[in-house]
Amino acid sequence: MAGLSEKRLDSRWLWLIALTAIVVSCYMSVSMLQTINGTQPQQKIGRGVEYLQDDGGKFTLESLLQGNDLNWQTEQHQLLSYGMQHQPIWFRFTLSHIDFRHKWLLEIDYALLDDLQIWFMQGDNLLSDYSTGDSLPFRSRTIASEKFLFPVPQAEKPVTVYIRAKTSGSLKLPLRLWDMEKYLVHSGEHGLMLGIFFGFLAAMGLSNFFFFLTTRSINFFYYCGYVMFLGLTLLTLHGIGYKYLWPENIWLQGRSVVLFANATMFFAVIFSRELLSVHRYSLLVDKLLKISALVFLGLFLLSLVLPYWLMIKTFILILIVEVLFICGVGIWLWRRGVAIARIYTVAWTTLLLSAMVASLENLNLISIDINSHYLLIAGASVETVLLALVLAISYNQQRQQAFDAQQQALDTERELRESEQQAQEELEYKVQERTLELEITLRELSEKNQELEERNTLDSMTGIRNRRYFDRRYQAEIRRSRREQTTLTIAMIDIDHFKQTNDSLGHLVGDECIRAVARIIKSLLKRPADDVCRYGGEEFALLLPNTDQHGAEVLLEQIRQQIENTPIKTESAEIRLTVSIGFVSAMAGNSPDDNTLLSQADQALYQAKQSGRNKTCQFHQPQE
Ligand code: GH3
Ligand code: MG
Ligand code: MG
Repeated sequence: MAGLSEKRLDSRWLWLIALTAIVVSCYMSVSMLQTINGTQPQQKIGRGVEYLQDDGGKFTLESLLQGNDLNWQTEQHQLLSYGMQHQPIWFRFTLSHIDFRHKWLLEIDYALLDDLQIWFMQGDNLLSDYSTGDSLPFRSRTIASEKFLFPVPQAEKPVTVYIRAKTSGSLKLPLRLWDMEKYLVHSGEHGLMLGIFFGFLAAMGLSNFFFFLTTRSINFFYYCGYVMFLGLTLLTLHGIGYKYLWPENIWLQGRSVVLFANATMFFAVIFSRELLSVHRYSLLVDKLLKISALVFLGLFLLSLVLPYWLMIKTFILILIVEVLFICGVGIWLWRRGVAIARIYTVAWTTLLLSAMVASLENLNLISIDINSHYLLIAGASVETVLLALVLAISYNQQRQQAFDAQQQALDTERELRESEQQAQEELEYKVQERTLELEITLRELSEKNQELEERNTLDSMTGIRNRRYFDRRYQAEIRRSRREQTTLTIAMIDIDHFKQTNDSLGHLVGDECIRAVARIIKSLLKRPADDVCRYGGEEFALLLPNTDQHGAEVLLEQIRQQIENTPIKTESAEIRLTVSIGFVSAMAGNSPDDNTLLSQADQALYQAKQSGRNKTCQFHQPQE
């Protein structure tokens, strides 16, 4: 909803600006035209002038003065206009009723005449004569004006004027008789008007060229080309180009109109095509516009070589078709709802209308108060302003579109980045979760492992350490004893006559006894480093690190006595048991065989058994 009302507001603003532009430029044009129209010539010479077509160019002034049977015709129209003519035309008229106390000028307000000769006669007397035109360098002119100006000689009697005009384009002779003083005023006003107009075009062209340089938007360049060449065309039509820009270049002056006009149309067409983005609506129309642009380019190039009259005829024909086509495209796109097409169409229609009125006036079909040149200039001004406006709007629209697209791209990118980040975070979270789970599992596993390890070192029946553990611990203690030079005691304890106990009371009772003996031994070990292990069957092995022979003997004897004195209560009977103990207390030697102490303890046990059992025997090195 907001977007829609914004759009409506936009187009309302557009029309307001366009309308203001039209009103301002119209007001300025009209007020300037009024000022200029205030200064009028004494006389517009047209109707009643005699003319003579000189097919083949065979007449001279002399032959005309002598010849009586010549076919002089009287002009019925106010404007002396003869269309495309290659042959010279002679004109004859008489200036009477003029006050020769003033100075007078005869003006021909058509800058494109190739050959122009003029004779001021009184009867058969030649008062003065001038020869000029486009086919001569500019300096040939008596009065250095962009228009053809001739001083009327002072005379008492009426002066007859003969003019011979020849040109390769359309032949016109807009003749005016001016009071010199009034002409001075008029010339100033006219110059100011043209100065403003061409200054305006140059400013438009330059500013758009700079827009092109800064924005790199090609349409500013096309518009600049259009305005510049439009300016050059009008400069040529007013004779200003010849006066100021190429006064010596007859070749260029001879074809400048058609060159510049073709270039103007070339730029106008490519500008329109680009501006209205025609390709979006119809490829055919787009192609037609492209072709017509190329046609104008072709005509431009041909104008460099082919004769002017041929090129100007071709140009005007194509121009009529093209302008109608362009206006048609404008209206068509207007109806398709392209906002800028409206202003565009109004712009072209303004120029078209002013050109039409100027042409009709030129053809004497209508009569208006304003000089047709000025009308065309006013039309071109309004058009230039409106087209510049359209261009600015279109550029702004494009920029807005580009900005929107960029914004959208940024948004998409941001969303993408956000979702990516979210995914990344989720992933990281999951990984962390898994890692944690894994760590827990690993810890549990390691605990289980430790537990298992622990369990592996225990004897399942007695709950004390087993043989496996003893073997490992024994190796470690041997090394420590060797390293720290401490005395290590190893003892072996074996229950006496256990076979009998087993046999008489049963294995289960036997097991009970083994457990009881283990409990007793364990209860008597006080140091944390001391360890008792079930070595196998009813045999126990003791590891007493850092324990010398005396200390060991005391402890082991205590164990033996405690077992002897503790009756073992079982379900069936109270059993009394004795054990034999063999031990050795020594520092581990450097011998590579680590089992020495163990075997010595075993030997001591053997001795204890041999000497009657229920004894504690220390290992003695046998005498050599
Ligand atoms: P001595 O050691 O005094 O020479 O005589 P002994 O009868 O104890 O002889 P020996 O050490 O050779 O016999 C060990 C007996 O211990 C054999 C077996 O009946 C018994 N024994 C060994 N291990 C176990 C056990 O785990 N449970 C039970 N109930 N009896 C066992
Ligand atoms: Mg035994
Ligand atoms: Mg035994």
